[in-house]
Amino acid sequence: MQRTGIGKYLRLFTVLLFIEVVLEVFGYQFMGKLIFGGAWSSDMPMERIVHLVWLLVITTPLLYGVVVRYLRRERAFANEIWRLAHYDDLTGLCNRRQLTRQLSNVLKNASQSHQKFALLFIDLDRFKHINDSLGHDIGDEVLKVISKRILGSVRHGDVVARFGGDEFVTLMPSIEQSGDAIQVAQRILERVQEKISFDGYEFYLTASIGIAVYPVSGDSATSILKSADTAMYEAKRLGKNRWYVHMPSMQEQMYSRFQLENDLRRAIKEHQELYLEYQPQLDVDTGQIVGAEALVRWNHPLIGIIPPAEFIPIAEEAELIVDLGQFVLESVCRQITDWEAVGSHPVPIGINISQLELAQPNFVSEFTSVLSEWGVESSRICIEITETTLMKDEEQVREKLRQLKNYGIRVMIDDFGKGYNSLGMLRQLPVDVMKIDSVFIRDIHTSLTDKSILSALVMLAHANDLGVLAEGVEQIEQLSVLQQENCDEYQGYLFSPPVSAEKFAADYL
Ligand code: C2E
Ligand code: CA
Ligand code: CA
Repeated sequence: MQRTGIGKYLRLFTVLLFIEVVLEVFGYQFMGKLIFGGAWSSDMPMERIVHLVWLLVITTPLLYGVVVRYLRRERAFANEIWRLAHYDDLTGLCNRRQLTRQLSNVLKNASQSHQKFALLFIDLDRFKHINDSLGHDIGDEVLKVISKRILGSVRHGDVVARFGGDEFVTLMPSIEQSGDAIQVAQRILERVQEKISFDGYEFYLTASIGIAVYPVSGDSATSILKSADTAMYEAKRLGKNRWYVHMPSMQEQMYSRFQLENDLRRAIKEHQELYLEYQPQLDVDTGQIVGAEALVRWNHPLIGIIPPAEFIPIAEEAELIVDLGQFVLESVCRQITDWEAVGSHPVPIGINISQLELAQPNFVSEFTSVLSEWGVESSRICIEITETTLMKDEEQVREKLRQLKNYGIRVMIDDFGKGYNSLGMLRQLPVDVMKIDSVFIRDIHTSLTDKSILSALVMLAHANDLGVLAEGVEQIEQLSVLQQENCDEYQGYLFSPPVSAEKFAADYL
């Protein structure tokens, strides 16, 4: 805040007064002489009065101007202090202090009126990566974009605050049920996920959201904030880009694996909570979309979106995986038929097949009969089998894959390099594409060793007539290395995360 202007006026005013006092004291009354010339006499009371009036005329507006300006500046200064104390300088959202105050008010009202309210703790995923790689200036701009998106996702009357670096909080002062908060959280996740274009850079961000609901999640400001924060960490632990509703610890414990297994059984039967997302696969050289991987999601009514890495193992152990696989295959076939019905030409869709599914004696006949029932051409389907699955029960698996290949289905070895070392057996395997696991892609642009491993894998695959697809490509520099090393296809967040069927069709078909 600039305050030197006032000092200038005050100094000028002091100097004028000082001169006047000096003149008065020494009886020169210089001013009077200057104005009245020879007619001036210090004994003339009238002139003395005129002299004083003159002094007043000079000093009053000056004094007035100084005081008004001073008050105005003081007010602006106080406003600025108030703004800085209550609002975040970068985004203009409420700051932590203002949020805490609002939260106390809301809490007071809610306890009197027995109303529910919700608090959403939003933390951006991997934001540090943006700051580290693109610099803090771009990081700041991204935070501004995100804060606008969050503001645009909440209801009228909700409070949005920046809580710290990349943490935001939304306070919903009155809700009917936790579903209201979930809806807003879902909207925020969708908005945050939209592409961010900035300064020639394009990237995607995601967020993890913890939801706390009064009174179940706590009855004080501190306990509610803590519950939302804990739930946010749970959302991160479950794989990020999701919301998680805080559950009081007793209920949490009751939510055992057994319960989850039951819920999953019901979800598979009812088909309500399971759905697929599609992640595009691209040609490394032309950038054309050449396929997509179907990835299953489970939107649990209480917990939120549970990632497949959490529930596929449960499905496998509880022998639900065959039914789940059936659901995925049917959903993909229905989707392809729907897309074709509106004149789109869908690219081949990759389906992940678990070892237990492939081990079913009539896996191949059942799989292909679903395709015929839906009238889906075999060239529209691709299956992804992990290297580990390939190495189990080798002869049987190979025979089944041969049959699928003969039927016209493309076969990929998934997560290559992560499991058994099958390098020596590549020639005998009935597969079309080697999908290199993301751990081998992560450092190819910074580590010469990793680049050499990639180079060797590509050469080996090509020597065995296999195509090569790189998984988990997140950086443009990684893509450049893939181009240099003649890799064929890639998929990853660099181009797009897995997206809904609607978004996939709208953007890429
Ligand atoms: P996967 O087959 O290796 O699938 C790729 C995983 O990497 C997906 O995780 C995808 O979202 C994620 N991913 C894609 N691009 C990037 C990236 O650039 N960076 C990073 N860090 N990750 C990326 P998701 O969807 O959580 O799936 C996890 C695993 O669950 C899959 O691994 C697959 O093994 C299994 N899965 C998913 N859907 C199905 C299904 O329908 N059936 C079976 N049996 N398994 C499935
Ligand atoms: Ca896969
Ligand atoms: Ca994989």
